[in-house]
Amino acid sequence: MRIYPVFLSHAGCPQRCVFCNQHAAEKVKPWQQSVEESIAYIEKSNLVYDEVAFYGGTPTSSLSFISDLLEPFQPFIEANKVRGIRLSTRPDELDKTVVAALVDYHVTTVELGVESFSDEVLDACGRGYHRSDVLSAYELVKPHFNVVLQIMVGLPKETEEDRRFAIEYTVDLHPWGVRYFPTLVLRNTVLEKMYKDGYYKPLSMDEAIHWSKTAYNSFKNAGIRVLQVGLHSSEFLTDELVAGPYVGNFGELVRSDF
Ligand code: SF4
Repeated sequence: MRIYPVFLSHAGCPQRCVFCNQHAAEKVKPWQQSVEESIAYIEKSNLVYDEVAFYGGTPTSSLSFISDLLEPFQPFIEANKVRGIRLSTRPDELDKTVVAALVDYHVTTVELGVESFSDEVLDACGRGYHRSDVLSAYELVKPHFNVVLQIMVGLPKETEEDRRFAIEYTVDLHPWGVRYFPTLVLRNTVLEKMYKDGYYKPLSMDEAIHWSKTAYNSFKNAGIRVLQVGLHSSEFLTDELVAGPYVGNFGELVRSDF
């Protein structure tokens, strides 16, 4: 699949989640600039893209923001240079009106930043929603789009039972695809303060690999696409990492049998 990524950093987010590095993300690029550069690039390119994909932020935070982001790409869809649009958003920023707008704007894939199915963990992360909101959002989007669930492991207040439950529950929901991420402590986050004050302990590398392998095998055996395991290596991540189970080839370690 040929995907053109557009990064929104923190744009549209109602609050800051404890693990999210808003400050550094904002240093990367404002969303308006990302959109303008993407349009210029696609215009010049001879390639056909399966999807333009918006990552980061909360693109569905308002109908006007959806329109600001997606309208500029509609001519490419009409000209068959782009086949569809993918976006990643929070489960509590979706309702019937938003879903109707996404359908109108030719969205093909919706990634839900679920992170956890435990209400206690979601509260500890400052996510601002609960498992029931995730289920409502999932039911809303499932009939219209390919749905990808993003799940994290090693979040504050998380127990082994929560980790097992998240994997089993995801298998039961049977989304189109999954991304699975061990939690990392990044600079300038609430999680960094929790870690330094002794209130949060990240997973060890062995624990992160164990849970990621369990998740990967469970999803694959259930016929669910695993789009990503662990964060991709990047200069940004190396600069901002404080603690946590990170290694550049994490995904390969999980997929290997050794
Ligand atoms: S919703 Fe996503 S982008 Fe926004 S603060 Fe939370 S983790 Fe960061």
